[in-house]
Amino acid sequence: MQAKQHLAVGMIGALPILMWSSSTEAAVFIAASVLIDSDHILFQWFHSRKITPLNHLIKSYVTWDYFGPRILIFHNYETLVFLACYAVYSEIFLFYYVFLAVFLHLFLDQIGNYLTFRVFRIRTLLGDIVRYQRYLSARNAGKEREFLIARRDSWINYVLGRFSDKNLDEKSPYLGGIQLTYPEQPINKSKKDSEWQDFF
Ligand SMILES: [Zn+2]
Repeated sequence: MQAKQHLAVGMIGALPILMWSSSTEAAVFIAASVLIDSDHILFQWFHSRKITPLNHLIKSYVTWDYFGPRILIFHNYETLVFLACYAVYSEIFLFYYVFLAVFLHLFLDQIGNYLTFRVFRIRTLLGDIVRYQRYLSARNAGKEREFLIARRDSWINYVLGRFSDKNLDEKSPYLGGIQLTYPEQPINKSKKDSEWQDFF
């Protein structure tokens, strides 16, 4: 889901908090439900080794031509477990709202990604790191293209692709941080190999 949609849902979710709790807690809930998307930009900075000027931030992310694995430090199950544990052990009630905001964000992303791409994007942070390391090793060995094609043709994509009933090529090129040509999206197996070459 896009950040503005998360903002809208966060504001609606903050209404009951505002009624039963303080405006600070409602504001933290809204902020947390939107700011977790910042990890998409953080990864772009990390991977491309350059900081995008603020006014070009979204545009440069949307048009970013990187299709390899990404490490998203907030969009993962470990963050959720950590926040839940932290809320319980710190006994600071505010962190329950942070946990709820992040949980709601990830839940909506998961549904949005499935409806659009037939893919469940939220994963483990450890898995993200391992996949990215493998990508870097392949790239260093001069086998980046082979790596991306192997990911695109992986069994999990094949399984997901079997459930896909949409022509994904007609969808918006960007939603929820996933590029249209992101190799994890379900594959239209009828495409000839040569048709994919422009993407890599
Ligand atoms: Zn998100």
